[in-house]
Amino acid sequence: MSQFLPEFIQAYIPNTIQLLYLVATGFFIIGIKKLNSPATARKGNQFASFGMLLGVVVTLFDREIISFEFIIAGILIGSLIGIFAAKKVKMTAMPEMVALFNGSGGGASALVAWGEFSRFDPMFFDLQSLITIGLSILIGSITFTGSLVAFGKLSGYVPGGRVALPGQNIINLVLTFAAFGLIGWFAVDPAYQLVFWSLFGLALLIGILTVLPIGGADMPVVISLLNSYSGIAASMAGFVVGNNLLIISGALVGAAGLILTNIMCKAMNRTLPNVLFGAFGGDAGGVVATGDTDKTIQQTFADDVAIQCAYTRKVVVAPGYGLAVAQAQHVLKEVANLLEERGVTVKYGIHPVAGRMPGHMNVLLAEADVPYDQLRDMDEINPEFTSTDVVLIIGANDVVNPAAKTTPGSPIYGMPILNVDEAKRTIVFKRSMNPGYAGIDNDLFYSEKNQMFFGDAKKSLQELAAAIKELD
Ligand code: NDP
Repeated sequence: MSQFLPEFIQAYIPNTIQLLYLVATGFFIIGIKKLNSPATARKGNQFASFGMLLGVVVTLFDREIISFEFIIAGILIGSLIGIFAAKKVKMTAMPEMVALFNGSGGGASALVAWGEFSRFDPMFFDLQSLITIGLSILIGSITFTGSLVAFGKLSGYVPGGRVALPGQNIINLVLTFAAFGLIGWFAVDPAYQLVFWSLFGLALLIGILTVLPIGGADMPVVISLLNSYSGIAASMAGFVVGNNLLIISGALVGAAGLILTNIMCKAMNRTLPNVLFGAFGGDAGGVVATGDTDKTIQQTFADDVAIQCAYTRKVVVAPGYGLAVAQAQHVLKEVANLLEERGVTVKYGIHPVAGRMPGHMNVLLAEADVPYDQLRDMDEINPEFTSTDVVLIIGANDVVNPAAKTTPGSPIYGMPILNVDEAKRTIVFKRSMNPGYAGIDNDLFYSEKNQMFFGDAKKSLQELAAAIKELD
């Protein structure tokens, strides 16, 4: 675009581009900072989006851009897909969409590296550039296929549990070393095409083989790790094409993803090597949901739940994935309002891996304008359960499953849970006795202190709201 400008202006363009890249980076950083709290998260998103727009526009002024046709076609196709996805994809399918986004980021970075490599004679590149290209291909491709497998697992196309060959960890380790060996070979002999393509193929295979064995309760960690990889791959691609903004924004995503991965590991009480190489999430180890148990449950209905909640002091809501499926967040807020009008204290206990993506429950409850000061993290709410009269468990299962504390060998054993069993009464809102994501029975359902309120959470909560209104 710059070639259409007068010459004396053209002279200033390279420095101005770098300066504006710095401004865009500032917007990214402020945006991330604002994502810190639900109160400022929307603004944070707007800041970061503006930074991205600035980055794109500034890049279009880059002298090296030869053809705008492809760029315009790309923008059109990408925008159409984005608008379609934003309008059509349901809130419950957001995790799958995030997995696809991560994969696209990784794939794009690998393609950028390949594009840059094939633009020149292989001997044109110095050793450092070739290593960077190799790393970009490796990390980008692993992110691409790994995210596709994660997408498949989340959407049910690929079995959610452990899918692995005997000695899978050793195989993965050997393949990873082989990939680094290929990068070395490629760096000293870039003209040998077979090495380049072997690296590409091997990296794609490693992505599949690394994520396939991970499943069940460990998926949150994998998703945030892939998110981090997509950032690192973008940063590598930035080095390959010499674009500072891509280097910085990729590094921001990479670092943020690593921090999130760490948070998720802590939430699951796992170490990262344990998640990546332990490969036992989803392997239900003898506690698979059987459905044919002779244990008994107590069933309850809206009128009874209304009385139990309305004439009490403190109610805690434990939301889970089913709340998102039922889209019951607004009617849940209505129930909470009705209880508060009657003098009941209502709080929400948020488990870090409830739902299907990090922060899922926070986003959902924010949508219904639930006040932030009523939300309590797991560590904050757990000591409060002993003084709680009623816990309403809305579409949550794994995150309240006592097997995490009592059943060694269970796929969720060791994961901290919401200690709802310490409250005086628990009421579970779900449609059936079916298990949650980890595929295991939940003994909480058979506890003497527990009652089951069967049905779609939205419908059950609507009935509950009506029943509370009926009370004098
Ligand atoms: P779970 O998946 O354990 O349980 C959800 C429950 O909701 C199910 O038992 C289901 O029972 C019920 N449900 C589904 N639809 C409805 C509906 N319309 N109305 C009422 N109930 C409904 O969810 P949790 O939130 O407790 O746990 C999250 C799990 O997902 C964990 O194992 C976590 O590791 C995993 N995970 C989390 C990710 C994250 O980043 N947060 C990412 C990937 C996985 P029923 O069918 O009987 O109604």
